[in-house]
Amino acid sequence: MGISVDVVKQFKKIVGDAHVLDSKADRICYSYDATKQSFLPDIVIRPLTTEEVSQVMRVAYGSGIPVYPRGAGSGLTGGAVPLYGGIVLDTVRMNRIIEIDTDNLTATVEPGIVVSEFQKKVEELGLFYPPDPASNEFSTIGGNVAECAGGLRCLKYGVTRDYVLGLEVVLSNGDVIRLGAKTLKSVTGYDMVRLFVGSEGTLGIFTRIDLRLIPLPEKLKTCTAFFDDAMNAARTVTDIIRNRVVPRTCEFMDRRTIECVERYKNVTISEGRAAAFLLIEVDGIDASVEADMQKIVGICSKNGAYKIQVARDDQERELLWSLRKAVSPALYQISPGGKINEDVCVPRSRIPDMLCRVEEISKKHTVPIASFGHAGDGNIHMNVLVDFDKPEELERGEAAIEDIFKATIELGGTLSGEHGIGNTKAKFLRMEQEEEVIELQREIKELFDPKRILNPGKIFDPSKQRVLASLKELKEKLHQ
Ligand SMILES: Cc1cc2nc3c(=O)[nH]c(=O)nc-3n(C[C@H](O)[C@H](O)[C@H](O)COP(=O)(O)OP(=O)(O)OC[C@H]3O[C@@H](n4cnc5c(N)ncnc54)[C@H](O)[C@@H]3O)c2cc1C
Repeated sequence: MGISVDVVKQFKKIVGDAHVLDSKADRICYSYDATKQSFLPDIVIRPLTTEEVSQVMRVAYGSGIPVYPRGAGSGLTGGAVPLYGGIVLDTVRMNRIIEIDTDNLTATVEPGIVVSEFQKKVEELGLFYPPDPASNEFSTIGGNVAECAGGLRCLKYGVTRDYVLGLEVVLSNGDVIRLGAKTLKSVTGYDMVRLFVGSEGTLGIFTRIDLRLIPLPEKLKTCTAFFDDAMNAARTVTDIIRNRVVPRTCEFMDRRTIECVERYKNVTISEGRAAAFLLIEVDGIDASVEADMQKIVGICSKNGAYKIQVARDDQERELLWSLRKAVSPALYQISPGGKINEDVCVPRSRIPDMLCRVEEISKKHTVPIASFGHAGDGNIHMNVLVDFDKPEELERGEAAIEDIFKATIELGGTLSGEHGIGNTKAKFLRMEQEEEVIELQREIKELFDPKRILNPGKIFDPSKQRVLASLKELKEKLHQ
């Protein structure tokens, strides 16, 4: 892309020399996200205030430079990757909690705050911010809002969008707009907040976020259950809910994932026979939690669980959770060359069918697939374990992914439950959405970002030619 010395000087004047990074080492650090793709930006800009973001965008807009908003770079679909060079706009210096309002149960934060830091602060006040992606120790609230992150407590509490009341947004031309209201109810005009939540950095840059809080539940109870037959585990999930118990968490691991965790932690938890594992957690007041857990244990045994452990205290709870938390590093240990992690979501009752289809797909393409994740939400993560440096293996992995997407749609599901589309899934969008709907979304994007400088190449524009042509067209217009 290349940014002129004059323009870089303007950026340095806005945010200060120290916050415009252009060394090769810095650019490499900001060239990737959790997908392992790497595209070098020309520069990285680290603003501190809304005003600075706005001024940076004015200059970028005037010069037609692509801008990629970035939180912690933990995205799993390439959202923050600077596909066509330009500017990575790093929000991590904007990490203040502006306010926690304990009377109205709301909070206002800057986008760069790490999710777990915010959760801890809120919990010290007896309040609760439920959205809880497994990346909460490093991902940012801004990144969570842009992806509409889900996580481990969605079954009972919903996803990030259910907690966003209002947004301050810097548009591509530098204008600052405020959306929504810091009230529990607001139906004034279109629901613009919902449009921006999950927009993956393609419509505007969030600089302040108003969030809804709820009271912290009094008590938690956690159990794990092991099954010889994965179908029985999957049925258990629907049975629990059919019995009117809604756990806050219902996590699943298949046989391959359990084996990886055992190897990684050097423990034997399954007696070598588990085809599936569930971790189930309920919360609420003392009496209801005990009653719910009793029902859950009964349903697990009725469905053939051969081992059920209920945590008696916090220490035992941590031990049970440590198995689930080990999944990601355990899968990398077994597949150091890489894994393609897809987060398809099907109606909960179709999980057994989905697991059967994945088994068939794994055999058809001779690639190992490890499945785990948020069974209660129907959002199982399918991890195709392939070595990215072996083209033939990668090709088989990608063919398997395409079949997984086809099966998902056939079962009434969706391509992404929580990781978004980014650039990695953009070419599959048409499997789920009609051309007319995609075109309408493109028009919305055009309205907010007429020069297409915000996160180009994401969601709709998988074709490099299309994006390069659009940037070329813009350059020509600027020179006319
Ligand atoms: C080990 C691991 C576990 C994970 N577990 C989960 C999980 O359980 N649930 C889940 O939903 N996800 C999960 N993720 C995925 C990832 O953490 C989430 O998508 C998260 O929301 C990304 O946040 P981030 O701060 O890293 O954003 P980034 O990766 O930096 O950016 C993500 C997207 O947000 C945009 N963006 C960032 N900040 C802003 C802003 N201020 N304004 C506008 N756009 C912005 C970017 O342009 C990009 O499109 C996991 C990832 C890893 C590596």
